[in-house]
Amino acid sequence: MKLYDLISQYKACGLSEREIILIASHLTGKSKEYLIAHPETECPDEVLGLLDLRLEGYPLQYILGSVEFYGRTFKVEEGVLIPRWETEGLVEIAVDIIKRKQIKLVADIGVGSGVIAVTLALETGVTVLGTDVERKPLEVTLKNAKTYGVEDKIELRLGKFLEPFKERYAEIQLIVSNPPYVKCGTPLQKELLYEPECALFGGVDGLDFYREFFRRYDVTGKIVLMEIGEDQGEELKRMTGGTVLKDLAGKDRYLLVERLS
Ligand code: GLN
Repeated sequence: MKLYDLISQYKACGLSEREIILIASHLTGKSKEYLIAHPETECPDEVLGLLDLRLEGYPLQYILGSVEFYGRTFKVEEGVLIPRWETEGLVEIAVDIIKRKQIKLVADIGVGSGVIAVTLALETGVTVLGTDVERKPLEVTLKNAKTYGVEDKIELRLGKFLEPFKERYAEIQLIVSNPPYVKCGTPLQKELLYEPECALFGGVDGLDFYREFFRRYDVTGKIVLMEIGEDQGEELKRMTGGTVLKDLAGKDRYLLVERLS
């Protein structure tokens, strides 16, 4: 089927031209610029299956198997949360803290696709101890670390919070995380139904992760930087005594806790 026929058919169903071209590019191996200039390109039949999947709400990033983050391309697949732009803000703040305080050892709880851990290692040269409660994210993070040649900077272990790195806890200077913070029962856009529940949902008020983390760990002498939901800032300030920073959209998005020893 020719690309221009696909575009007219699937645009009428609600897909954007950009998505159709990206999916066609993924399957044909031709660049999107080439396809834009050659809409008469013949696309293989499999393209129809992928466009139908996208129409049902299956995320574009899982179809393409990749996502852009902090100016780089990262592998993503089902079983890991798709990185969001807000998390680039978390990384930006973390990079600044690492440079200012000359931090050498960072921990990342719930690595997901590894965008935070790999980007911090690349941007600052720190070593990152990463955990996740599922194996798939650890595998995807390792692949991304290898792609960018920082696998020797990232140590990955399976488990909750920082339990797998108990013996190194005292050395950790900065703890970062994009934990699950969506309230259970929140009506979700259909794309989110394909993402791992354990990466999204944080209990009835979305705060289970933070409550348990700050109960389990004494963070005196460390810096903690975590992504939060836009309506959770006040409660988390009360719970932790930390400060809350805003994202690009002006919404409360990052919790910073710095307990001096
Ligand atoms: N920001 C994500 C969303 O609302 C949630 C990510 C998370 O819970 N860490 O889709």
